[in-house]
Amino acid sequence: MTVIRVAHVGADYDVVVGDMVEALPRLEALANGQSLPIVSDRRVFALHGGSLDRLTLPEPILVPEGEAAKEWRNLAEIIDRLAALDVKRGTPIIAIGGGSVGDVAGLAASLFKRGCPIVHVPTTLLAQADSAIGGKTAIDAAGQKNLAGTFHHPLLVVADPAFLDTLDERQMRSGYAEVLKYGLISNPEFFDWCETNGTYLLAGDRQFHRLAIEHCIRAKARFVTVDPDDTKGTRALLNFGHTFGHAIEALAGHILLHGEAVAIGMALAFAFSVELGICPASDAERVCAHLKAVGLPIRPRVIEGAAIYRAMLSDKKAGPQGLTLILTEGIGRAVVAKAVDPDQLLGFLSRSA
Ligand code: NAD
Repeated sequence: MTVIRVAHVGADYDVVVGDMVEALPRLEALANGQSLPIVSDRRVFALHGGSLDRLTLPEPILVPEGEAAKEWRNLAEIIDRLAALDVKRGTPIIAIGGGSVGDVAGLAASLFKRGCPIVHVPTTLLAQADSAIGGKTAIDAAGQKNLAGTFHHPLLVVADPAFLDTLDERQMRSGYAEVLKYGLISNPEFFDWCETNGTYLLAGDRQFHRLAIEHCIRAKARFVTVDPDDTKGTRALLNFGHTFGHAIEALAGHILLHGEAVAIGMALAFAFSVELGICPASDAERVCAHLKAVGLPIRPRVIEGAAIYRAMLSDKKAGPQGLTLILTEGIGRAVVAKAVDPDQLLGFLSRSA
């Protein structure tokens, strides 16, 4: 069992990577004799809910699978059910599932009685390597990704890589895009590692899953610690590929998985950076070659460039000074680009999409 401490003002927390059975005593200590409410989706609960039987209330709160979980009505339903279960303010809520379950359950926990503790038990590669850490919660609204959300840091995260044995290949690849992001933004050696080992990881090698998950958690913990509320520009680098990706994901309407949209977004961020003359074309080619080699998409295909551009302008990160994008000076060298020229971006997207 590996324990990674995430420093967070006044509320440090542990991320435990390893066998759920070994982590159970920590959860039992938090439960302090109570049965805890559990939020999940039907598939995850059927596959892995049993691992928490000893701790949880018999009736789980189940949300729809995937991005469909992140809707107002599910948020409202979770809050209604927590009230019906008479959950007290200090009672930890357990979220077991992928990033979608974690995002909506985290938001519900942050709102219920003005804030209940949450424990994340992530079950996808994406959630174990990325989304369960850092405290961002959200639902989608008004046709936009993650429009309504809060920061609500967990009490504990337990990531058991064995849960990934039941994950299908496409979901695994989607999570791999977020893993790769950590190499692309700040660690060229990790990108080299991914180039060498990515196909083995995707083929189900548990040792590689664990290495990648632990690497990404440590990296994310560093970003989150220096910029917990995403206001200093450091944590913003984690959004590499996401402003393009979120626009594409929202327009594609559940056809693309989150990681697939991020893969396209990262490829576009490299291509746009090359066009602006700040990134070597050879780096962009190398990144696209690896994305293609592992079966991730690099272009949005049927979505028009002008539509992506319009969706990007309504992004949360667009301010009065225009759009801020995370671009790159090369592999491992992501940069914050402020006030991006809108005409240049529109021209680029119209040619690329
Ligand atoms: P997901 O939660 O959408 O789940 C995808 C599917 O995988 C679902 O059908 C689910 O039932 C299934 N599944 C989950 N675990 C499984 C398992 N072990 N075995 C079999 N099936 C399993 O997928 P995701 O990729 O983890 O999450 C994507 C979401 O995460 C997006 O909404 C994205 O915006 C969000 N996200 C949030 C953050 C953050 O910091 N909060 C960061 C990155 C992504």
